[in-house]
Amino acid sequence: MKKADMKVYKERLVALRARLRGDVSAMADSALRKNRHESSGDLSSMPIHMAELGSDNFEQEFTLSLMETEEGTLDAIEVALERIEDGDYGKCLECDGVISKTRLNAIPYTPVCIKCAEALEKG
Ligand SMILES: [Zn+2]
Repeated sequence: MKKADMKVYKERLVALRARLRGDVSAMADSALRKNRHESSGDLSSMPIHMAELGSDNFEQEFTLSLMETEEGTLDAIEVALERIEDGDYGKCLECDGVISKTRLNAIPYTPVCIKCAEALEKG
């Protein structure tokens, strides 16, 4: 991949990382303060009404697993940024093939091409 192209992805990754970091700490914050919010009965700020889906435990677990996913994404972003520094970005870690720009535009931190991603998903 050309240096100029990498710069574009680097900027996206840095912006995404900043956003995710904000989200993770905001979620941790609200998960920890949840019990205090409970008594007020104010769930209007939530994007989805979790209470309909079941217990409060479910809601908390959902938030925590979402946080784990985002932590994993942050790791992947760090790795992608390192690979940009190494000039290695855009190359599939599994097969050494080129990751398509369509895929990188959708998931700029992905370490593998679409074929390998599908193979990994199937196990
Ligand atoms: Zn591959």
